[in-house]
Amino acid sequence: MASFYIKSNPMVVAPAVFLLLALQLVAVVLAAETPSGGGGQKEFDYFVLALQWPATSCKNTGKCCPANGCCRGADSPTEFTIHGLWPQYNEKGWPSCCTDAVFNQNEISLLSEDIEKYWPTYRCGTTSNCHGTKGSFWAHEYEKHGTCAAPVIVGEYDYFLTTLTIFSKYNVTKALSDAGFVASNTEKYPLGDVVDAVKNATNSTPKISCAKKGAVKELWICFDKNFEPRDCDLANSCPEFIKLPTYEPQGVVEGAIPWIADAEELI
Ligand code: AMP
Repeated sequence: MASFYIKSNPMVVAPAVFLLLALQLVAVVLAAETPSGGGGQKEFDYFVLALQWPATSCKNTGKCCPANGCCRGADSPTEFTIHGLWPQYNEKGWPSCCTDAVFNQNEISLLSEDIEKYWPTYRCGTTSNCHGTKGSFWAHEYEKHGTCAAPVIVGEYDYFLTTLTIFSKYNVTKALSDAGFVASNTEKYPLGDVVDAVKNATNSTPKISCAKKGAVKELWICFDKNFEPRDCDLANSCPEFIKLPTYEPQGVVEGAIPWIADAEELI
C-alpha cells in the first residue's frame, strides 16, 4: 500500500487542520440542507405506485411492433401493469429529473423478463427523457422519477427492483377479482365498492382515474418511505360507476414477448 509522509512545521499545520475541520463542518451543514432529491429540488415525502389497466391503455394503440405490450395477442396483459414509482410531495407536485443519470438497459438485464411482463411499454415510439432526447418508456420513468427517489432508492437497478417488489406484494387485480370486480365490457361497478376492495387489500385509500365512459385507466397506491401503504389523499377522476374493460388483442407481432410467460416454460 502506498504511504505518504510530509515533513511539516506544527505551527503551520495547526491552523491548516483547523481550517480543514471548519470547511468539513460547512460541507456537512450544506449537505444537510441540500435536498437529496437533487437538482435543487427538495426531498420527496412519499411514493405513488402508478398502475395501468391494459385494456384502457391499449385502446388507442395505433401501431404494433415486437416491443409493444398491446400486441402480444392472447398473451397480452390482462392484469394491472406498472406505469412507474413516483416520489411525491405532501403539499402538491413532485420532483423530477433530479440527477444527470442516463438510463442504461444493461444495468437491469437481470430484471428484463419481469420488466417486460409486469412493466410493459404500450407504444412503439419513444418517450422524451430528461436530457432533451427520446428513449424507451423505462428510460423516461427512471430518469424523470427514479432519480428523485434518493435517499430511499439510489440507482437504476434498485429503482426497478424495488418497484417490482412492491408491485408483486400488492396484487390489486387479484384483490379486485376476489371481491367480484373482474374484467368485463358490460358490467359497471360502483366506484366506492372498488375503492373499498383495494382498501381492504392494502389498508390504504387508492386513487383511481378513468378514461371515457368510466373505463379505469390508472390505479395508484401510495406508500410512505418505509414502503408501508398510506392513503393517497388524491381525488379520483371517475364517475360513480366504473368499468374494467376486457382486453381486445390489437394483433400479434412475430417475435412479440409473451405476457403469461412462465420462466420454467421458456427454458
Ligand atoms: P409520466 O411522465 O411518468 O407520467 O409518463 C408519461 C409519459 O409516458 C407520456 O409520454 C406517456 O404517453 C408515456 N407512457 C405512459 N404509459 C406508457 C406505457 N405503458 N408505455 C409507453 N409509454 C407510456
